[in-house]
Amino acid sequence: MLRYVQHQLFSWREFKRSLVFGATPKRWLAGTWIPLKTYRIFPDGRRIGDPNAPVVLDFMRNVIRVRQVCRNQPRYSVELPMSRWVLERMIEGGDIKFAKVGVRRGKLYLALVAERKVQPIQPSGYALVIDVNSWKHGVAWALIKGDRIVKWTRERPDLGYIERMYSELVGLERKYGILKRLGLHETLEGRKLWLKIKHKRRKLHKYLRDFAQRLTSRLAKKAMKRRTRVVIDDMLDESRRELLEERISSGLAKVYFSSVRHFVELFVNQLRWYGVPYEFKRLYSTICPRCGAKMKELPSRIMKCENCNFSVHRDFVPVLWFLQGSR
Ligand SMILES: [Zn+2]
Repeated sequence: MLRYVQHQLFSWREFKRSLVFGATPKRWLAGTWIPLKTYRIFPDGRRIGDPNAPVVLDFMRNVIRVRQVCRNQPRYSVELPMSRWVLERMIEGGDIKFAKVGVRRGKLYLALVAERKVQPIQPSGYALVIDVNSWKHGVAWALIKGDRIVKWTRERPDLGYIERMYSELVGLERKYGILKRLGLHETLEGRKLWLKIKHKRRKLHKYLRDFAQRLTSRLAKKAMKRRTRVVIDDMLDESRRELLEERISSGLAKVYFSSVRHFVELFVNQLRWYGVPYEFKRLYSTICPRCGAKMKELPSRIMKCENCNFSVHRDFVPVLWFLQGSR
């Protein structure tokens, strides 16, 4: 049976505040990621890896030790709590054979790379077809068996919440702009306002990121449970154009796009990790699946073909294209 190795990369965010390297990273470090060896100490006493590795994962004491931080002094090390992510990967049969260190947004980051031997999932005849749009139109997915659509739905974050947050942000930014023009932005009031803006921005992006993360793991689990193959259409440029055609302000369009690409990356990462076969495929949403003519969009995202009169919901068109392709 074929076995191949899959990797999963830990998001750097968790180490952001806990790793202090003291100085601004050297310029040569920027833009490159340096692989570091790891040494693993398991609860049963097994030790694997290079004992002199700069990163030690100690599962006996549940800490991650980063050695030789800053200077090459023997006892100069930083201890971090063991991350839940690492423990979860271990339970799934993964191993952290190496880490990477590099610069992200001007700060030094440590990223852990989990590796796992997987048995590729034997497809069961099910397919999960996923059409990724902006968050405004969400992620439409269909579970298909043979040429039968078992389920079809669209997942979207809370648009009301997003739009409310966004308009509050715009209001605050406008106020800040006025203060700035008056030269009052460095006052206590100005600085308070700036902090408020930053906080709100962060909250909005966190909401979208969390939504993306939850959706990713839900869809990945679905794919595993049904042993589907996965087909993804992520024509994000097209959805961006579509959003702007709807006369949404470019600021809000940006919000609707934030973390969409991240969603696709996360999703693919998880599919690989679990050995779910996947492919990217262009599935049209504006071309008639019956006759190939360009379709016209009517209100409430209904697409109508003026050549053969076929009409259907826009999110459904990619599914029909998929079915046609698999016939
Ligand atoms: Zn047609």
